[in-house]
Amino acid sequence: PSITRGVTKEFSKVSWDDIGGLKDLKKKLQQAVEWPVKHSHAFARLGISPLRGVLLHGPPGCSKTSLAKAVAHAAQASLFSLSGAELYSKYVGEGEALLRRTFQKARLTAPSILFFDEADAIAPKRGSHGGNSNGNVTIGERLLSTLLTEMDGLELATGIIVLAATNRPHAIDAALLRPGRFDLVLYVPPPDIEGRYEILLIHTRTMKLGADVDLKQIADKTDLFTGADLQGLCREAGMVALREDISADTVYDRHFRASMLSLKPSLTRSMIE
Ligand code: ATP
Repeated sequence: PSITRGVTKEFSKVSWDDIGGLKDLKKKLQQAVEWPVKHSHAFARLGISPLRGVLLHGPPGCSKTSLAKAVAHAAQASLFSLSGAELYSKYVGEGEALLRRTFQKARLTAPSILFFDEADAIAPKRGSHGGNSNGNVTIGERLLSTLLTEMDGLELATGIIVLAATNRPHAIDAALLRPGRFDLVLYVPPPDIEGRYEILLIHTRTMKLGADVDLKQIADKTDLFTGADLQGLCREAGMVALREDISADTVYDRHFRASMLSLKPSLTRSMIE
């Protein structure tokens, strides 16, 4: 991906098949994002106005970013990624300028998808960032109003959709949830047992597994593991095998068991909505 000061632009290689579980969610994103971006003319022909924005929320490490990449890949669209926290940390005026430039580039290279990670930082609730007692407009407010203006300017069927992700949906400003902005709000849940099994299959695709490895059983024993945790678990199992014998070519059940003993899940019950 090419990087220009806080924005990356890429043609993502992540496909729907690289994301385990989340069948219904993938279908929703396909229809709400992939179709209008890929077939914007069809939407115009039928007079359907596509959504402008979709907000993904859910605990960290559960594939919000991967979903944005997969939908961009499927829609054959360029993906522009921006981090809300990074925009927020810039000098006054710089964040807004970058935001405007990115929308402009996205228009020029449409079809495109804009992805805002940590969106709660871009659009903090008005006044929640303090330092506003003298009536000055805060950085968060300036970014929010720029984002709103840019989103309102997207108009019909331009082949651009904005995706945003957050772990803190309650910190998102209500103005972003008004009609014509982030009209679709989707919860990305942590993987259930089925999802964990599919994620384990994905992250062991390139590994040679011993006949004693039972991924279904591992899925059963990894409650509260995120997708990112499961990816780490598979990598660590491979590392255990290598530490045992640097010429090892197969990962066995004992390596997974050792890996499970050394890793803790990221989630707690209270984090699951
Ligand atoms: P954050 O909120 O921390 O940005 P996120 O929800 O955007 O996290 P990702 O960055 O998409 O999560 O996930 C981190 C890594 O975990 C991914 O690179 C991917 O390899 C793995 N992962 C997460 N969920 C899945 C999944 N459902 N299937 C396969 N891999 C997954």
